[in-house]
Amino acid sequence: MSEYVKTLMSQVKAKNPSEPEFHQAVQEVAESLALVFEKHPEYRATKILERIIEPERVIMFRVPWMDDHGGIQVNRGFRIEMNSAIGPYKGGLRFHPSVNLGILKFLAFEQVFKDSLTTLPMGGGKGGSDFDPKGKSDNEVMRFCQSFMNELFRHIGPNTDVPAGDIGVGGREIGFLFGQYKKLRNEFSGVFTGKGLNWGGSLIRPEATGYGAVYFAAEMLGTRAETLEGKACLVSGSGNVAQYTVEKINQLGGKAVTLSDSNGYIYDEEGISPKKLQFVMDLKNVRRGRIEEYAEKFKSAIYKPTSLSAPFNPLWNHKADCAFPSATQNEINEKDARNLVKNGVYCVSEGANMPTTLEGEKVFLDAGILYGPGKAANAGGVAVSGLEMSQNSMRLTWSREEVDQRLHQIMKSIHKTCVEMAERFGTPGNYVNGANIGGFLKVADAMMDQGLV
Ligand code: NDP
Repeated sequence: MSEYVKTLMSQVKAKNPSEPEFHQAVQEVAESLALVFEKHPEYRATKILERIIEPERVIMFRVPWMDDHGGIQVNRGFRIEMNSAIGPYKGGLRFHPSVNLGILKFLAFEQVFKDSLTTLPMGGGKGGSDFDPKGKSDNEVMRFCQSFMNELFRHIGPNTDVPAGDIGVGGREIGFLFGQYKKLRNEFSGVFTGKGLNWGGSLIRPEATGYGAVYFAAEMLGTRAETLEGKACLVSGSGNVAQYTVEKINQLGGKAVTLSDSNGYIYDEEGISPKKLQFVMDLKNVRRGRIEEYAEKFKSAIYKPTSLSAPFNPLWNHKADCAFPSATQNEINEKDARNLVKNGVYCVSEGANMPTTLEGEKVFLDAGILYGPGKAANAGGVAVSGLEMSQNSMRLTWSREEVDQRLHQIMKSIHKTCVEMAERFGTPGNYVNGANIGGFLKVADAMMDQGLV
């Protein structure tokens, strides 16, 4: 670690105590940017990174709501408006009991670079609540979403801040949130992305993050003249990103063999066929059940419970070619990364945000495998959100084929940027540096142009 990064990190830790995920995200980016600052001292002199680290605005608020038994519940709501240098704040809302300020700051920080990489005019933001939608009735979820929006509505808008979904926030929640925003503002506008198809949503938005992560993997494999055809793929999670990752793997001739949730994972040696995936979609999106049921239904699969406090996750300890972590942050630690490399995995495309610890990343980079970090590999979701905003502004709808084609093109362009930036700054093949530098330069130059604001 350079002296510059050491000093910066000690300041970041002192100023933002108890936010380990935020420290981790900043450290990774700062290490990549040290390469840029050697060649371009003007960015250091103008303290661009120090300014990017500090959110433009943090909103924290009380979310009181009533459960089905008449009991009063109180949650905490957040919106981090991180950076608006290249466009309105853009980034999802996460509803999960683990949500806190540090986690949302890490996500908002990552989002700034990711949104810049898409080539679309979007700044970075993130928000959410420690509300747990699991086990809640539809009415409880609706009352919570309405109360959440009763405060958030005054801070967002189609030209200011445009939220979307993330963990725990899917089509149902976006519907309730949008409905309340519309009522309070008395306007129908493109203030959310991920909307329903018949009220302003874009085709391919639900698929976009998963499809994009697989397109990104295909591009990485292409640098070695390979394709996904016949490749065994480990996928974690079983939510939005994981489901459409499996769908695209199947379409490109690969074989997905695992899925998980926070209780455990399934391994299906025969592969998760389109028919089995349909079962998962119904299980997770309609019945809201546990992945364990997959192994009860399909005898070719085994189920193993897992625990976050275990030293490693057995999901990452199977023979395979590719891995698509699509659940949550820090789900691959150093030991998991070693297991992956040992078992022959040589292409990792991150659907989740920061799923690999800094130590795990080092294992991948030292092993010289194709490693696509989340802020590049999972940018397809926000890219199609950007396309949804364009369609809303023009008041028209593009076809499925058109959106998918644009998504594919954007993923190719992100891949190209990563490769070129990694090479230009002396670390060919290092997609972490490529993504961090590529995302940074556009935002940094915009901030320089706009003065000290
Ligand atoms: P969903 O809520 O649809 O699914 C999340 C999945 O991950 C569930 O299977 C969930 O299991 C599992 N999971 C969540 N937390 C944990 C945990 N602590 N341990 C183990 N498993 C866990 O979310 P998404 O699919 O939308 O998001 C998944 C990842 O992708 C997140 O990192 C998100 O930030 C990232 N992402 C999402 C985008 C999007 O467009 N949706 C865009 C870019 C990135 P369980 O049901 O048991 O909680």
